[in-house]
This record gives sequence, structure tokens and C-alpha cells, in this order.
Amino acid sequence: MAYQYDDNNIFARILRGEIPNDTVAENDYALAFRDIAPKAPTHVLVIPKGKYVSFDDFAANASEAEIMGFMRLSAQVAKAEGVSLEGGNGFRAITNAGSDGVQEVPHFHLHIMGGRNMGPMLA
Ligand code: 5GP
Repeated sequence: MAYQYDDNNIFARILRGEIPNDTVAENDYALAFRDIAPKAPTHVLVIPKGKYVSFDDFAANASEAEIMGFMRLSAQVAKAEGVSLEGGNGFRAITNAGSDGVQEVPHFHLHIMGGRNMGPMLA
């Protein structure tokens, strides 16, 4: 069964410009913007511009160009935020998927969080 994408999810509306966002970086395939309720000094969400519900949908169905564009933008964000291992102290990159993963917004996104010690994974 195909993944069911909801065109009215909040990140789809951000991509259509219907809701403002604090953009950090962008390329042809992905958009990075600040989380509205940051859990760390750096808390940026990276989303593909294509319609993918979750990590597994994206990983299985996106093109190589989309995956490459998404990954490279994520690395660019970490570096620009000063949290990459090139000059920074590191970061946490996580994605939640589905109900057990407690995914709130059904458009695939990577959280990039840093600027403090992120503590144990499941704290
Ligand atoms: P999830 O639980 O789906 O992994 O994370 C969704 C994230 O999206 C949450 O961290 C939440 O704060 C963020 N978020 C929800 N609505 C908005 C919004 O309208 N704008 C922005 N920038 N972030 C949002």
C-alpha cells in the first residue's frame, strides 16, 4: 500500500508559502527552518520539498538527487549553526516516524539539535 500523504499538513503549507517560517537554508530539494518550539539552542528542521510522509517513505521512494540534496543541506545547516564536528561540539539528528515514533507532522523531517549537551537519547 502506498504512503498516504496529507496535502494539508503544516509543513506542506509552509512549503506552499501559506504559513511563514524562519528559513535557515534551502536548495532545490530541501528546506531548513527553525523549529517553532526549540528544545535546544540550535533546533532546525530539514524537510524534503517532495511529498514524503516519513523517513521510510523518503528513503524508499525519493530519487538519488532528492536524497543527496536533503543530506547535503542537513550537513550545511549543522556547519552553519556551528554544531558540526568541523569546528563545533556536535549535535543530535533524529526523525520520528508514525504513532510509535510519536511523529506529530506527517511530512518527513530531520531534527538537528545542538548548542548544548543533548543528554541521554531517551531522556
Ligand atoms: P515531530 O514530533 O513530528 O517529529 O516534530 C514536529 C516538530 O514540528 C515539533 O518539534 C514542533 O515544534 C514543530 N512544529 C510544529 N508546527 C510548526 C510550525 O508551524 N512551524 C515550525 N517552524 N515548526 C513547527
